[in-house]
Amino acid sequence: MDQDLELLNLINNQYAKPEVITLLEKPENKDLLEYVTSDAFGAHVFPGDLPNYSNQQFLAVMNEQLAQPHPIHLWVNLPTCERRCFFCQFPIIIVRDRENLQKNTQKWLAASLQEASLWLEAVPNLKHVPIGEFNILGGTPTLFSNEQLDELVSFYRKNFNFNSETTIRIEGTASTYTIDKLQKLKALEVSKVSSGIQSFDDQVLLQANCAHTGKDSIAYIKNAKQIDFYSVNADFIYGLVNQSVEQFLNDIQTAIDLEVSCIVITKLHLKTFAEKRTAVSGEKEALWQIKDARDKIQQQGGRWSTLGEQYQMREEAVRLLERHGYREHPTMYFYHPDKKPEKWKSLMVDQDKQFAEVGFGMGGSSSCLRAEAINTTTAHQYFEKIKQGLLPIESVRGFTDQGVVKKSLQMALSSCQPVKENIFKQRFPNDSLFEGYWQSIFKGLEKRGLIAIDEGNKVISLTPVGQTLVEAIIHTELG
Ligand code: SF4
Repeated sequence: MDQDLELLNLINNQYAKPEVITLLEKPENKDLLEYVTSDAFGAHVFPGDLPNYSNQQFLAVMNEQLAQPHPIHLWVNLPTCERRCFFCQFPIIIVRDRENLQKNTQKWLAASLQEASLWLEAVPNLKHVPIGEFNILGGTPTLFSNEQLDELVSFYRKNFNFNSETTIRIEGTASTYTIDKLQKLKALEVSKVSSGIQSFDDQVLLQANCAHTGKDSIAYIKNAKQIDFYSVNADFIYGLVNQSVEQFLNDIQTAIDLEVSCIVITKLHLKTFAEKRTAVSGEKEALWQIKDARDKIQQQGGRWSTLGEQYQMREEAVRLLERHGYREHPTMYFYHPDKKPEKWKSLMVDQDKQFAEVGFGMGGSSSCLRAEAINTTTAHQYFEKIKQGLLPIESVRGFTDQGVVKKSLQMALSSCQPVKENIFKQRFPNDSLFEGYWQSIFKGLEKRGLIAIDEGNKVISLTPVGQTLVEAIIHTELG
């Protein structure tokens, strides 16, 4: 533990000591320190507390919930990438030569559409429930040809309940967002484009094995804005090899100057996501997860930032973003003052929503009130299941009554928005945030400076330092 505190205090003296370090130094926050030094990522999948849940049970409770007309987040994972970034844990498939690309993407497209048909059979209400946002994730979906993307979007429009409120969002690498691709996406009525830019610094990108350059990213943002997408988003990682606090802040300033609609800042996480089931990771480790590889980079002169510097990056970037009117909603996602928070995230985690999510493809994850499921992350198994006419679900967990309440609060806190007693009581009339068990949890967090309690308005909010530590809070104090 002393060693953890020592590492935490290795900071860049040109910047202030992060508030979060002062908090983590206190003995009463030992559990939070342990969580953050384990380097876990914690805010995508909210794991169920009933391990012995069957696929049939999951499909039945999902179908029951989808009978309600609440808009859902529907997504598909198109897993092909040109190369593997050294930090990437996602279940992806590398297609190196362009010649094989069309064949490979076609194979994935066909399987993905077949899988969607299987879900429609197994969960009949999926056909009727309104789609709030349809998200084409990856991998690199923008490696798919214009015709393939056309086929994909047309299939979904035809077979699912897309309406005037439905939005379509896609992710891709900056170098694959050509003007032609962007125009095609616009023609398909995709209104939101997003890219894992990670950094604008070419040396940092090269070290991380990213396929794009800083120039590609600037071109992507400018071209997408010119073509007038509603949202032009950019994701950044802090803690990459050879990245300094100053460089990271320059990246965020550049994104602000370019008026990016939503700026996502994620800490570099090297712990396998699947270990805690809080996100989905593929069967293959990221290179940087291997200790020998990390040591080699260091021996060759590469520099890993310390946890203390990572917190400096986060706290300084948050100050910068807030000065320009950006707001965090949910954790890590900062939206532009003229835009709205990310819809797919809001549908999933906002306290007044928390609607269902259904994800197709390798590593797709789905969740409803009473259960969550994750698809296989192995390509061979995925194709085998689809060939046999089976859903590629690999693991399912249910939620106990208490688990449902806990998940709802974990999600609500992860939205970084105030948690309200009146909304809580509408869903859980026999429970209260201001009495009994939850009161004692929240009073404890208040004493430690992690949340603020407004007794008069019956509202609980994360403090700024609580916002930084929200993943640790929801998986230790509420976990
Ligand atoms: S980070 Fe993105 S582009 Fe890089 S390997 Fe992972 S999915 Fe592909």
